[in-house]
Amino acid sequence: MNSKQTYYKRTFLSGSSVLVVALIALCHIGLAKADWQKAEQDIMGTRITVELYHQNDDEAQAAIAAVMNEMHRIDRSMSPYKPDSELSIVNREAADHPVKISTELFNLLQRSIDFSQLTNGAFDITFASAGFLYDYRAAIKPDEQSLSEAVKHINYRNIHLDGNAHTVSFAQPGVKIDLGGIAKGYAVDLGIALVQNRGVSSALVTAGGDTRVIGERWGRPWQIGIRDPRKADAIVAKIPLENVAVSTSGDYERFFEQDNTRYHHIINPATGDSARELQSTTVIGPDAITTDALSTSIFVLGVEKGLALINQLADIDAILVDSHGRLHYSSGLLRLTSE
Ligand code: AMP
Ligand code: MG
Repeated sequence: MNSKQTYYKRTFLSGSSVLVVALIALCHIGLAKADWQKAEQDIMGTRITVELYHQNDDEAQAAIAAVMNEMHRIDRSMSPYKPDSELSIVNREAADHPVKISTELFNLLQRSIDFSQLTNGAFDITFASAGFLYDYRAAIKPDEQSLSEAVKHINYRNIHLDGNAHTVSFAQPGVKIDLGGIAKGYAVDLGIALVQNRGVSSALVTAGGDTRVIGERWGRPWQIGIRDPRKADAIVAKIPLENVAVSTSGDYERFFEQDNTRYHHIINPATGDSARELQSTTVIGPDAITTDALSTSIFVLGVEKGLALINQLADIDAILVDSHGRLHYSSGLLRLTSE
């Protein structure tokens, strides 16, 4: 059994476009139903779900509250919409002078740059240099001239981190950063660590499209559905998962349509325009910061380059829905399905 099977269980594909899942349901004794707790809150501009098992109801509630508090804390420091967040201060000042930042933000910026290097620039938090010109709710997009001006500032190499002084500076005015493609996954990993430290060994933490699970649920793997990008209540695949993270990026999350073109929130750093080769990308891997950053990256890279990258990474798999609604699987999932 390879390592992937330990967290996917066995999956196989049917002839149709539906991923059919075969499971051996193991009955576990000792998980009293009343002791599972679930809570949902809207934080970080998204829906947070925490579900966990603890023998003690009060401990369970305290663990859930700790996760929600953590989400609020990350939102306060990393929201681009809060003028006093650490991120907003960096965006206002880092082109003028180096800005001293927390170890947490410093490390997350470093991780973001690592993902830019890994994905050949498909993941780039300076996408925001052009990204801030869009307002998807108000159906506003930049004119060609302002867009081509803003795109000049997109380049992760414009972010200078000084590990000794613990500062960040931008190479030029016009550079802006946004952590929307990685912060939710980061927050989910922190949430899982928090509940584990409180003695919880079966839990799910979700922030929007980013989920991480530990242990099992009712003695069975967790079932994570991948929604149909064009039908909100339909599912194109269902995956049984244990001790793993899964992130989905989709062009249906925040978008508007104009002249038969969909303008949505995942930006190709090369053009400043929305990436349109895919409708959704789902990445499965060991932790949510990785799956979050990679789901956004693969969305930009498209089917061929995206799968080529995923297939060279150990313990990472992906399911892509292309612009025609067709499903594509990474080689690890195809191997499992043919066994
Ligand atoms: P996700 O739903 O995880 O794919 O994240 C989408 C969010 O990532 C967007 O709302 C933006 O905040 C951010 N984003 C968009 N394009 C990029 C990109 N090319 N690189 C990094 N982050 C991006
Ligand atoms: Mg993502």
